[in-house]
Amino acid sequence: MSDSVLDLTCELIRCRSVTPVDDGCQDLLRARLTALRFAITRLDKQDVTNFYATVGSGSPLFVFAGHTDVVPPGDLADWASPPFEPTLRDGYLFGRGAADMKSSLAAMIVATENFIAKHPQPRGTLAFLITSDEEGAAEYGTRYVVEHLTEIGCIPDLCIVGEPTSSTRLGDTLRNGRRGSLNGTLTIHGVQGHVAYPDLADNPIHRAAPFLAHLTRIEWDTGNDHYPPTSLQISNIAAGTGASNVIPGRLIVDCNFRYSTEQSAAKLQQAIAELLDEHALDATVHWQLAGEPFLTRPGTLTDTVQRAVRQLLATECALSTAGGTSDGRFIAPMGCELVEIGPVNATIHKVDECVSVADLQPLAQIYERVLEELLA
Ligand SMILES: [Zn+2]
Repeated sequence: MSDSVLDLTCELIRCRSVTPVDDGCQDLLRARLTALRFAITRLDKQDVTNFYATVGSGSPLFVFAGHTDVVPPGDLADWASPPFEPTLRDGYLFGRGAADMKSSLAAMIVATENFIAKHPQPRGTLAFLITSDEEGAAEYGTRYVVEHLTEIGCIPDLCIVGEPTSSTRLGDTLRNGRRGSLNGTLTIHGVQGHVAYPDLADNPIHRAAPFLAHLTRIEWDTGNDHYPPTSLQISNIAAGTGASNVIPGRLIVDCNFRYSTEQSAAKLQQAIAELLDEHALDATVHWQLAGEPFLTRPGTLTDTVQRAVRQLLATECALSTAGGTSDGRFIAPMGCELVEIGPVNATIHKVDECVSVADLQPLAQIYERVLEELLA
């Protein structure tokens, strides 16, 4: 395999694919898959670039899923080397997307090339589901492709998402589920007035203070065998008119729940409504559900990935449902077994994002071993 994973990762990093722009990443991937006789369906929608590609037929239908988009680099002056110029330094490859998740995409392609070279007729179907909108709104990315696949009755049995799940060394952690994510914007209404005449106003900051204190003390649940406890974080509070002599008319609070299967979005929304009532607050609440929690119970796919990691790297791969949301939230509800496994995530979304060069070929070997076990 020489340096093929490194080479392709570098090519992908050179594409300035800041979400939802693809900037040629998917051309590179499609060219490699076309050479392997994959049938490719482009599923672009608005400014999002997507494709679904398959080789073989029948079941099991195994899908490699991933995204070509990256988060913005931020201030370029903060980077030791330019974010879209792949740079090797001290055994690491630096560049935006090096870990999240251009190296995984390259590893999936190389694993597939090696696997197809040995097994030109795989058992079942091997597919790629690739989007350029995972880091952004995610409206017309994987969600849209999944709608299309559901319409044509194409339901995956097994799926690996290449998100960077490893914490300190390659393969130490896989995700077999994700917590739910629910965003809330609470507008607490008062009456604007002069600070010198508080009896003629109604200060929403003062009214909200005990409610917010109460909110942050609540233990929502204690988690369960597969999930850590549900947590609520307030991410922003805004009030004030900009003048120091004005009581503002409203206070806006943004918050986010990361929740276990002990909860549902409906239950959490109800709990907030009751708490607002208890504190006699006049409030308007707007909810946006990013995704309900999903879980793949330990079984064929988790066992296969864990065995591959143990055999290739002598590392025990722990199951985890921690971390942020991923596109697994759209694919898992189709009813397939889904795990996420990829490189070390210590630098993702940061300045000087990087991946260990020594991890690149082993990541491809893990993916290839899984294909060998499931589709050979
Ligand atoms: Zn990612």
